[in-house]
Amino acid sequence: MRILLTNDDGIGAPGLWALAGELVKVGDLVVAAPGEERSGAGTAISLRKPIWVQQVASQVEGAQAFSVSGTPADSAILAISCLFPGEFDLVVSGINRGSNLGHDVYVSGTVGAAMQGFLHNIPSIAVSMYAYVDIDFTIAARVAALMARRVGAGELSAPMLLNINVPNLPASDIAAIDVTRISRKNYCDRIEKDYDSSGEYFIITRNEELDDAVPGTDLWAVEHGRISVTPLPDRAVSAQFIAALERIVPSVHAELRGTAS
Ligand code: MN
Repeated sequence: MRILLTNDDGIGAPGLWALAGELVKVGDLVVAAPGEERSGAGTAISLRKPIWVQQVASQVEGAQAFSVSGTPADSAILAISCLFPGEFDLVVSGINRGSNLGHDVYVSGTVGAAMQGFLHNIPSIAVSMYAYVDIDFTIAARVAALMARRVGAGELSAPMLLNINVPNLPASDIAAIDVTRISRKNYCDRIEKDYDSSGEYFIITRNEELDDAVPGTDLWAVEHGRISVTPLPDRAVSAQFIAALERIVPSVHAELRGTAS
């Protein structure tokens, strides 16, 4: 199978290459990612503006890598529609530094890039770490690769968009993999105001989570040491698809912990 890997933290991000190292074992891997960090870009595309694509050295042997001057979604679109048209069987986005939970899926560039795969009828997976510091990407990379193998084996059918969030724990401490729905987790926007020679300007930063972590949600899962797998977008997900996912995730968990029979 041919896999497209992208992200929103940029082509140099360690999470991207940790994931590349596992996905290159699953299929023919192409990495196409923004040249700079574009977190929070959501599904934005650079309409009617020039975008430059440059082939760069891959940090993983056997993969091809491209740096894109646009957004995460631009990177996915160009790879899918221009660089390798009709060739991808799977799109993976991540591994993001920091979670993409609850209402954040609507502003996440990680999810936004994966959304482009979904919109092109390619099975797509977004992967994020529920941590910002001292991150070990190993488990998230392995989970993504295990899910990719199941997509390749036809155990999950297109169209699909999975949003995976992984707690920063060793495999032995991962309690389960839950199929979840998005919580109402959100951030408060914090606006800083300052002045320069051209006048007043604003900087948006985000903090202070507003939580609604009830069982069954993505936030509850990661807060309880579990990997969250959320099928998106909500209204497009059938009961049959959720049932297929729920059949698959226990075996992924067993393989992750090395307890598969
Ligand atoms: Mn990011």
